[in-house]
Amino acid sequence: MTSSGVSSREKLVVELRNDGISDERVLAALGRVPRDQFVSEALHDRAYENVALPIGEGQTISQPYVVAAMVQALALTGRESVLEVGTGSGYGAAVLAELAAQVISIELRAELASVASARLRQLHYGNVTVLQGDGSQGWRESAPYDAISVTACAPEVPRPLLQQLRNGGRLVAPIGPPKRQHLILFERADTRLHARDLGQVRFVPLLGVAGIQLLDKSRRN
Ligand code: SAH
Repeated sequence: MTSSGVSSREKLVVELRNDGISDERVLAALGRVPRDQFVSEALHDRAYENVALPIGEGQTISQPYVVAAMVQALALTGRESVLEVGTGSGYGAAVLAELAAQVISIELRAELASVASARLRQLHYGNVTVLQGDGSQGWRESAPYDAISVTACAPEVPRPLLQQLRNGGRLVAPIGPPKRQHLILFERADTRLHARDLGQVRFVPLLGVAGIQLLDKSRRN
């Protein structure tokens, strides 16, 4: 890792703080994860800009501010078991891994899943497991989860994900149509679900059985 990478990361942390991210553990985590390692070499010099960047296959690595806002909303203490739906580059999984005990991250696209998995292993994120599959159905084998982060948008939260959330657990997801969503924080309290709107965002669509099925069908042939 170059020293310029470190100073660009420090600048990014200052920017996130100015933009309203206030949880010091979250800021420190984003200050530790080498985002340049999660984008192609051609984008290395843009890795610490506070913007989403392309990672291939029409997908993106999320904007650092949005990653920070999502993990901040999950209020992780370091003891949690977390499910991430939409591994993409693996950057969000690395940030979660800095703040929780265990992270399971599911990615639908096989190539992205294998690149992210190798990358996280190389960076010694031993508490992350990347699985290839349809994350709209969650991953029942390791449920319930203390927190769930969904990094692709859907008109509503896939029911299986809510079923796999522990009582008292938190789920954050972009909810709404493909072009314009709101980041919603859900908190499960027994049979009730409290929802809080964290503001407007823009994510790629969540495909799969419990996601946007129309798009999924068109992908199959
Ligand atoms: N968290 C990522 C950004 C993810 S972009 C990062 O930090 O880089 C959203 C990802 O969700 C894409 O990689 C897309 O392939 C994936 N995706 C879409 N539908 C999915 C599904 N049903 N299950 C798992 N992953 C899905």
